[in-house]
Amino acid sequence: MTPANQNIKTYQWGHERRFNTYSGYFRDIYGARVQKVSIDAGFTCPNRDGSRGLGGCTYCNNDAFNPSYCQPSKSVSEQIGEGIEFHKWRYDEAVSYLAYFQAYSSTYASLDKLKKLYEEALNYPGVIGLIIGTRPDCIDDEKLEFLKELSGKYYVAVEYGIESCYNKTLMRINRRHTFEEAVWALERTTAYGINTGAHFIFGLPGENREEMMNQVDIISGLPVKTVKFHQLQIIKGTVMETEFMNNPIDFELFTWEEYLDFFIAFLERLNPAIVVERFTSETPPRFLTSGGWGKKRTDQLLHLVEKRLEELDTWQGRLYKDKRQKTKDKSKK
Ligand code: SF4
Repeated sequence: MTPANQNIKTYQWGHERRFNTYSGYFRDIYGARVQKVSIDAGFTCPNRDGSRGLGGCTYCNNDAFNPSYCQPSKSVSEQIGEGIEFHKWRYDEAVSYLAYFQAYSSTYASLDKLKKLYEEALNYPGVIGLIIGTRPDCIDDEKLEFLKELSGKYYVAVEYGIESCYNKTLMRINRRHTFEEAVWALERTTAYGINTGAHFIFGLPGENREEMMNQVDIISGLPVKTVKFHQLQIIKGTVMETEFMNNPIDFELFTWEEYLDFFIAFLERLNPAIVVERFTSETPPRFLTSGGWGKKRTDQLLHLVEKRLEELDTWQGRLYKDKRQKTKDKSKK
């Protein structure tokens, strides 16, 4: 599982990097680099159209994280084509692509409409699968049944925005779903044999650092294959921006140095079977009111995390003990 001595450099996820990386996960499945290509297919979300709530989550401004080529006025195929060109320019290695339905809640439509959009993406040359971002309350058995059929032929994952394990926080940020609903969605999706992803934010108002850290044991026990974490940033034009301006002491935003220490400690306790796709977020400065880390780019931050792991000679899951083991230990006392 872990390196027994200095000469063995491979961890239980099959490579020498000190955490269970997303790129390694796909290399393991496909033997090559796979690139995600984002799509905004023009969905909305039940927390905006009034069926669950109005106004949306307090931190949400989809424009801040949608790549420039994603425009719902363009077809799915056009967006994939432009996305592939965009990524080719940056990395010339990817030969296969995952269509990432990213914006808003990408299962929030009739099954007929979803079928059309997803199938259009899968028919694009080079696309080998789908990643579908959505809310835990936007999935049902009919949709899962269809996704299960697709997953017989393609890579399919549903990525749920969960954000926090605490209902008090979910209320505070106006998510309008509970953590129990998120667990239900993950369990149901897993029961259909479909890959699951989850997204969490560190630094949300009303949570102290200890509470944020303690989520690691809960997340470690979830039926989740991949996770994305990021630090809270205050985005222009959001309800949270107004709250922040009115009462900045209510927010304890991470500096990069604090976040690095926090994240390393979190990673050491995280279940090593969970693939970590991302641990920071990079918002274009024009969208940002606070919480950015200057000119540090995502790849530089990744390098700094890996360097710190090396210096401390630690790795993902070094301090992880699964619940079954904990129960055994207790019964021995
Ligand atoms: S974060 Fe997601 S669920 Fe919340 S308002 Fe935005 S699109 Fe809707």
